[in-house]
Amino acid sequence: MSKRVVYGPVPSRRLGRSLGVDLVPYKICSYDCIYCQIGRTPSPTIERKAYVGADKVVNDVLERLSERVSPDYITLGGSGEPTLNSDIGEIIKRIKLSTDIPVTVLTNGSMLMFDAVRAELQAADVVLPSFDACTGEMFKRINRPCPKIEFEEMAEGLVQFREEYAGQIWVEIFLIDGINTSDEDTKKFKYWMDRMRADKIHLNTAVRPTAEAGICRPEDGCLIHIRDMLGDRAEIVVPYQGEEAKAGGAAVRDDLISLLSRRPCTLADIANGLNTHQQEILKYLEPLVNSGEIEVARTDEGTYYQKKHV
Ligand code: SF4
Repeated sequence: MSKRVVYGPVPSRRLGRSLGVDLVPYKICSYDCIYCQIGRTPSPTIERKAYVGADKVVNDVLERLSERVSPDYITLGGSGEPTLNSDIGEIIKRIKLSTDIPVTVLTNGSMLMFDAVRAELQAADVVLPSFDACTGEMFKRINRPCPKIEFEEMAEGLVQFREEYAGQIWVEIFLIDGINTSDEDTKKFKYWMDRMRADKIHLNTAVRPTAEAGICRPEDGCLIHIRDMLGDRAEIVVPYQGEEAKAGGAAVRDDLISLLSRRPCTLADIANGLNTHQQEILKYLEPLVNSGEIEVARTDEGTYYQKKHV
């Protein structure tokens, strides 16, 4: 049986309960971001292919929905860049014909400089592009794009998309202390956000291990200052200043602790056991490991996590 491409619904700070759909195999991506939480991209590319065909994706989504799950959104994303899947336009249209649940696309935004990709995303309800750099130099440093992607062209692609698209655009900026967090940077980000007429600006930062060491989270005061400079559309989407995680996250955390108190598990075991994507599990696992509530054992068979017994 071929691998299912649907996972969740998982609780998401940006999207409530989100049913995730993986449109590309692991690390097929146009970027190799220094902050990537799933590892390095061996060879960033803009080549589009039907990495997972529309029939397979739509069948898996409908099968999952028939199991009486009720997500807030169906989110096309994956372990890389979903717009590299050349069937994405057909996938969006066919899912929308089958359900009223809004369809979102979690993209790094790089492919929106191409007319065909902008046209294919028109049917989505919400598009969530990343925009982590406000200059070409910063773009190369943070996103390490495929050499065929230039900063200005990428950014103008997003501006052009806004002109053509009637749905919601929620931009994410991943903030890295000392790299894209100065007032000068924030003014430049604001220039681009205004031109893109982003409906929302989500400020994210490192909360778990990244592709490169030394990716530092800005102080909470800095996050708040940047949010205030960007105006009403901006919100911080990581926990800050003791703010409580949303209720959906508490359920995953409880299930995780309950599972690991019964037996040691690898990350893959946990993801299978909780029917939740590995990236999502990492969000909850890391704070528990840092607080000492969960112990880590590295063996020849892999890395195991286990509830600490007191
Ligand atoms: S765009 Fe996303 S998947 Fe690709 S390298 Fe950056 S963070 Fe990782």
